[in-house]
Amino acid sequence: MSRKTLVLAEAKNGELRNVSFESIGAAKQIADGGEIVAVLAGDTVRDLAKTLFAYGADRVIAVENDALKHYTTDGFKQAFLQVFDKENPDAVVLGHTSIGKDVSPRLAVKMDAALFSDVVAIEGLHFTRPIYSGKAFEKRTTQSEKMIVTIRPNNIVAPEKDETKTGDVETVAVDIRDLRIIVKEVVKKATGGVDLSEANVIVAGGRGVKSADGFKPLEELAELLGGAIGASRGACDAEYCDYSLQIGQTGKVVTPDLYFAIGLSGAIQHLAGMSNSKVIVAINKDPEAPIFEVADYGIVGDLFEIVPLLTEELRNV
Ligand code: FAD
Repeated sequence: MSRKTLVLAEAKNGELRNVSFESIGAAKQIADGGEIVAVLAGDTVRDLAKTLFAYGADRVIAVENDALKHYTTDGFKQAFLQVFDKENPDAVVLGHTSIGKDVSPRLAVKMDAALFSDVVAIEGLHFTRPIYSGKAFEKRTTQSEKMIVTIRPNNIVAPEKDETKTGDVETVAVDIRDLRIIVKEVVKKATGGVDLSEANVIVAGGRGVKSADGFKPLEELAELLGGAIGASRGACDAEYCDYSLQIGQTGKVVTPDLYFAIGLSGAIQHLAGMSNSKVIVAINKDPEAPIFEVADYGIVGDLFEIVPLLTEELRNV
């Protein structure tokens, strides 16, 4: 059965997030030949939205309003619901990002839709999602005619970009009123260039790095590989780095192609955020450290000797 499927795309720092393209990939499976309409909301997003055609959207809608300059639950919920009223979608796909996690349950209630969150694989109308902090996976389906699906970044393949696919971006005017919260200013922390939740390579450090300076060799490795820096809560609690870098049950959940776990023990709460990474390399001086149980490659030794050697070797490749 074909389904009209809306993709709620997301932009960050003036660029579309990869998970928006992956959402189009997910939408193709759910739509089953039905129309795919990509929606981008913001204050001025029309030009940015055009790129969504290249990833296979049949139509692209820009929802522009000054009140959408920064994300607020109220503002974006109102905007999306007005688009839903016009478009009457059968299914909606968006990223399992902080925005997706916040807005999707509210949209599902209003749409009276089944909600599948944190989905990592889709087969027909069967949605696979991790449970028990990633220790098991469950497959769910629905008999509901309406559904909302949030997908975990870096798991569902985005369609190949095809620059020849283009079209006219439609604009939908929305009326946003009675906002309970207004964002006056966003003060960004300097946490490096690569977005942790979408990075293909992550170099994560733990309490074993011993100080903020101890992250320097890890930063060199990350820079060489075009990766992002992450951390265990142990490293954050010790004030070696900012909490925005924390990976795990109470931090970010990541699925990069390559994850370096350096000087971190591999506590269950840390594994909850990274154990689904495609390849895990652990460096730890304790051969009994639990991180070696999930690692594909393990190096036992002092990180301050091994990381610079590894960086040097990789520089020469
Ligand atoms: P440690 O366990 O102290 O490990 C340090 C490791 O570094 C050791 O294995 C040691 O052998 C190694 N090491 C030391 N020196 C060197 C060296 N020179 N070279 C190589 N290796 C070296 N933790 C998270 O990470 N993320 C979370 O989201 C999270 N959420 C939590 C939620 C709750 C409710 C609770 C109770 C805990 C949570 N934790 C979380 C904390 C978690 O239980 C661990 O305490 C924490 O992950 C430990 O951090 P660590 O591995 O850096 O430190």
